[in-house]
Amino acid sequence: MKPHKNITAKRLALDLYQFFRAQSFMVRLLGRQFHRSRKSIEIDITYKCNLKCVNCNRSCTQWPSSAELPVEKVEAFVRQSIEKNMKWERIRILGGEPTLHSRLFDILELLTDYRAYHNPEVRLVLCTNLYGNKVKTILNRLPPEITIKSTVKTSAVNLFRPFNVAPVDTAYNRFSDYACGCRIIEDCGLGLTPSGYYVCAVAGGIDRIFGFGAGRNTLPADDDEMIDQMKRFCRLCGHFGFALPVKSERISPAWQRAYQKRRNPDGLAF
Ligand code: SF4
Ligand code: SF4
Repeated sequence: MKPHKNITAKRLALDLYQFFRAQSFMVRLLGRQFHRSRKSIEIDITYKCNLKCVNCNRSCTQWPSSAELPVEKVEAFVRQSIEKNMKWERIRILGGEPTLHSRLFDILELLTDYRAYHNPEVRLVLCTNLYGNKVKTILNRLPPEITIKSTVKTSAVNLFRPFNVAPVDTAYNRFSDYACGCRIIEDCGLGLTPSGYYVCAVAGGIDRIFGFGAGRNTLPADDDEMIDQMKRFCRLCGHFGFALPVKSERISPAWQRAYQKRRNPDGLAF
């Protein structure tokens, strides 16, 4: 399989533009660059992972968890999608490593039935690290309607954006407008995670650590731009604006306090 590349020269150039475009004066002049998706959604079905990548953007290494999205939440997603006549163009299944969900095939059956009976045009994509025999064996059993996408990881050291460097901890973001989000809200789409619906699945992973409990309980209404979530989460997210990719661990003070708070819930509040 041809590996999917997250970091390219073109991507870095676009991120640099994204940073300038998210400065407050530019937003006042031109409006927000990105708008949340009504076409794509990513479903984080578990935070279990068989790799422990440095700078994982779901904190699977920094704060491991065996949490799984209940199958009933996928059922509810399908039901609400039909009721609201959503015409999803792409539904991605992610994690963590999604093949490790104990009821992966029940989830896939719900989604392939939705495709067969309600939305034959939707692309169903499963994103995997393709690492290890267990994962590969499960992938061999996937139904043909599921497309596999992978960065084909071979180790826990990868070139990633420094996810745990919070823009709010950096001086160069002092004039950034966090309500802008980033290209992920359009490229990857909405997020459904064990703690609800988010403007992107990354935000759900941030909420898992910071514990704001800010996920929506149901599929957001069409006129819900989810700006409140971007204001809350993008200030903490290393995907915001521009950052040079790294291979070594980077954790800025806001994240250090959040992980510390997870380790010691009775300690100082952040
Ligand atoms: S494979 Fe993906 S989910 Fe797992 S630790 Fe690495 S980046 Fe995180
Ligand atoms: S939380 Fe991160 S990934 Fe999501 S819109 Fe904000 S900056 Fe982008």
